[in-house]
Amino acid sequence: MKLEQVGNQCYAVISERNQLCDANSGLLNAGGGVVIDTQCDLGHARRMIELFGTVWPAMPERVVLTHEDADHVWGNQLFADAQIIAQRRIHERMQHTADPRNLQRVQHAARNWLTRIILRFSNPAILALADQLAEEFDFDGIELTLPTTLFDERYELNLDGTEVHLIHVGPGHQWGDTLIHVPSQRVLYSGDVLFHACTPIGWAGTFADWQRSLDLVISLDPDVIVPGHGPICGLEGPRELKQYLQYVYDQSRSCFDEGLSELDAAKRIDFGPYAAWSAPARLYFNVARAYREFRGEPHDAPWDTQKVFASIYKVAEARGIERVF
Ligand SMILES: [Zn+2]
Repeated sequence: MKLEQVGNQCYAVISERNQLCDANSGLLNAGGGVVIDTQCDLGHARRMIELFGTVWPAMPERVVLTHEDADHVWGNQLFADAQIIAQRRIHERMQHTADPRNLQRVQHAARNWLTRIILRFSNPAILALADQLAEEFDFDGIELTLPTTLFDERYELNLDGTEVHLIHVGPGHQWGDTLIHVPSQRVLYSGDVLFHACTPIGWAGTFADWQRSLDLVISLDPDVIVPGHGPICGLEGPRELKQYLQYVYDQSRSCFDEGLSELDAAKRIDFGPYAAWSAPARLYFNVARAYREFRGEPHDAPWDTQKVFASIYKVAEARGIERVF
């Protein structure tokens, strides 16, 4: 993890490994302080506080959430005195998407020798996922801490004269997707509307929805974007992700028309220029989302996450690449 200054009073903590749950956070160091997203476990949240603590005068008065996923909200409890601001659906959905008991159970099962052996045969993908997460994360002690202030479309803050705009754009990656824009600094914190240099994962909305969110990012014309995952970038970040989504959508369409299953399509579609992005086998999930659209199925039906991760694992295995999520 490293601290970067991205504007006057605007900072970011970047999680450099850039695999599943390695999320970025932000700090607006004015008007009592605002932290944007709180990391995926208490250890990372404490490290973030330590890094931001080298520049802030005191613990921040506010936390803002970019969406409802665990890797962005599991440090909330360390900001006990702060106002936690989020779009209304984030509050509603966090109780499912960020229930810590789910990953705690997986982590405990992978720590026990007997359940490890069972998992190795019954669900090797979940064991591999648990082992990957255990290298960095410890989910014990996390208590779901919900937002205290909710909004619908927009929320504005004035930090000692610096305007900050919270703009709800979801669904696309998630229902609650919210951009945090600091126009005077030309800085934008995108949350997971933008994955940079890593293969995106999205849970809600259509390809067109996600493209529209990225178009809005581009139209705001920031100089610096702090993505939800990956290194800091400029407008090339959202442009590349738009191209990736279009590429996967078009390739998936050809495979769908040929009658291939989504798993076989993900095993076959060339990674193209995106092979160097972290966790390329996550391609499967994007193909599965495209297939859902081609079949006319509702985009908001819940995902079988075990099947998604098992399929990503199979794609990596079949293509002879590292089984990284
Ligand atoms: Zn994330």
